[in-house]
Amino acid sequence: MLVCVVSDIHANLPALRSVLASVGPFDALWQLGDIVGYGPQPDEVVAALREADAGGVRGNHDAAALGAIDSRDFNRDARAAVRWTARQLGQAARTWLEALPERTMTGDFTLVHGSPRDPVWEYVHTGPVAQANLAAFETPHCLVGHTHTPLIFRQRRDGVETLQPTDGARLTLDERRTILNPGSVGQPRDGDPRASVMLLDTEQHVVEWRRVEYPIAETQDLMRDAGLPAWLIERLARGL
Ligand code: ZN
Repeated sequence: MLVCVVSDIHANLPALRSVLASVGPFDALWQLGDIVGYGPQPDEVVAALREADAGGVRGNHDAAALGAIDSRDFNRDARAAVRWTARQLGQAARTWLEALPERTMTGDFTLVHGSPRDPVWEYVHTGPVAQANLAAFETPHCLVGHTHTPLIFRQRRDGVETLQPTDGARLTLDERRTILNPGSVGQPRDGDPRASVMLLDTEQHVVEWRRVEYPIAETQDLMRDAGLPAWLIERLARGL
């Protein structure tokens, strides 16, 4: 089975559309949360995921937009975007988001937004944090988002090896446990503004990371029209 794995779409429909068109036919779409928040098209992104029959989990921004967690822990711009998003979400999108779990398992993979021990808030961004989380899931591998950076953490005898996969990078999965991050579709933060996506071949046990150009200005124009914070608009062009 070929699985397209996406995360942190953040209501950026032009980015999601470009990713889905670029990766070509796949058998399943898995998403790792933060479907909404920051971006200008929350309802449309939820509709696209429903149409693609996406499986997956909710993130902190999804939970905040639903009022399920307090947005006081967000920075000012993120909080403004959460409030805007909460006003935009229609009932159909809200119902679909509310049904998403914080954690799910499928085959060899556990899916969470943040980390397996704290699916809502924790960032798995360093070797020590990854190591502390390696025992917190039951499957051989765990897929996470939240950092907006493509990352590989792989168990080794004396700890964890950390890799930052670039466009076209491939990893063959073996008996070593891993925590894998596809990077962000809708708001990359690794200095590369292109959308990031991961393709997972569950028969060949191969994972591939790809970067995809999308019409950034289109998203930015929609954000301006919506009155979303200037920094959230600017950062898309810089991948920060
Ligand atoms: Zn996010």
